[in-house]
Amino acid sequence: MNILVINAGSSSLKYQLIDMETEGVIAKGLCERIGTAGSVLRHKGKGEEAVISAPMPDHNAAIELVLNALTDKNHGVIQTMGDIGAVGHRVVHSAEDFDRSVLIDDRVLAVCEKNADLAPLHVPANIMGIRACKKVMPRTPMAAVFDTAFHSTMPPRAFLYAIPYEAYTDLKVRRYGFHGTSHMYVARLAAAHLNKPIEALKIVTCHLGNGSSITAVDGGKSVDTSMGFTPLEGVPMGTRSGDIDPAVVEYLAAKTGMTLPETINYLNKKSGVLGVSGVGSDFRDLSAAEKDGNIRAVLALDLFAYRVKKYIGAYAAAMNGLDCVVFTAGVGENDAAMRGRIMSGTDFLGIAFDADANRNFTRGTVFEISQKSSRVKVLIVPTNEELVIARETKSLIG
Ligand code: ADP
Repeated sequence: MNILVINAGSSSLKYQLIDMETEGVIAKGLCERIGTAGSVLRHKGKGEEAVISAPMPDHNAAIELVLNALTDKNHGVIQTMGDIGAVGHRVVHSAEDFDRSVLIDDRVLAVCEKNADLAPLHVPANIMGIRACKKVMPRTPMAAVFDTAFHSTMPPRAFLYAIPYEAYTDLKVRRYGFHGTSHMYVARLAAAHLNKPIEALKIVTCHLGNGSSITAVDGGKSVDTSMGFTPLEGVPMGTRSGDIDPAVVEYLAAKTGMTLPETINYLNKKSGVLGVSGVGSDFRDLSAAEKDGNIRAVLALDLFAYRVKKYIGAYAAAMNGLDCVVFTAGVGENDAAMRGRIMSGTDFLGIAFDADANRNFTRGTVFEISQKSSRVKVLIVPTNEELVIARETKSLIG
C-alpha cells in the first residue's frame, strides 16, 4: 500500500508518497508560493526532478497538481489516485485533545479548528491541506499526526508555567512541546540500537535543525521538553531566541517603538544564532565565518552549544540519570564540530565522547560517537518525520 504524507504550511505544501511494503519514498515534492504569483511545484518521481510552474490560488489547486504529478505518464509513479491507500497529515498542535494520532473525521476537524488559535501560523494551514485532500479524494482514509502528541505524557510540574493556575485552566496556557514525532522516532531507534527495552532507558534527544528542541525521554515517554507554549521557548535556534526573560519584551518594545507582535516576530525571526552572529541562521555559514575569524559567529556557536548542554544536564537531573544522548536533524546529524562543542566537558555525566568517531561519522545511519567504555552512549540517529506519519497512518487504518 502507498501512503501519501502531507505537510501543509500557509504558502507551501510538502509531500512524500511512501510504499509501505518497503517503506521507501517513491515520490516527493514541494509546492511553493501557494496563493501568490509565481507558484511552482517541484516534483521528484520517475526520472529527473520536474519543475512545474502553474497557478495555485489555494491549497485545493496545489493538491490537484500534486495528484496530477503523481499520476503523470512521464514523471508519475502511480496509475490512478486509487493507488493511494491513505493520507497522513502533519498537524502541528493537538492541544490537550489528542494524545496520539487519529483518523480524521468531521469531529476531529472541528477540534483542530477550535485549536487553531494556539498555533495560528500552522494549524489553519494544516486544516487547509486536510480539506483540500478530502475534496479531491473523499473516500481515502486520512490520519492526523500531531507534533505535540508525544509530549502529552509530561507531568504537570513540567508542563505548567509558574503563573496563576487559571491561565492554564481557563486559557490553556501551558507548555506543549513540538517535534514530537522526531523525538519519539529517534528515541525508539536508539533503544533498538542499544538492544535494550526503551522502558529501561533514560534518553535525552537533541533535535537540532533550523528549529531545535531537547526532550527527556524516560522509559519511552516524554517527561520534559524544551519548547513550550510555542516553539519559541527552549534552546536558541536559527532565528529564534529560545528562553528569555519576558520582561525583555516590554523593555524592547518601549525602547524601539516596536509593537507587541513586532517584538515577538523579532524574537522568532531575527534572533537566535542569526541575531547573535549577524551572519545567518544556517550553521554551515556560521562555521565558514568562524574559519574566517568572525568573532560574533564564534560567539553564536558557543552560546548555542552552551545552552544545549545546559538542557542535557538539566534533563539528566530531571530523570535522575542518563543512559543515552541522541543527536538528530540537520545540525545534529551533520555538524560534527557542533556535536563536539556540546559534548565538551560532559564527562562528569558519565559520557566518554569519541572525538575521532564524531569526526569520521557515517551519514544516514545510527552511529555511535561515544567510546566503547562510555557508561552513557552518544548516538547520531537520522530522523524521519514523514516515515513516522506514514507508519502511524498505516496502523490507524489497520
Ligand atoms: P528544519 O528545522 O527546517 O526541518 P533541518 O533539520 O533540515 O531543519 O536542519 C536545517 C539546518 O541544518 C540548516 O539550517 C543548517 O544549519 C543545518 N545543516 C544542514 N546540513 C549541515 C551540515 N552539513 N553542516 C552543518 N549544518 C548543517
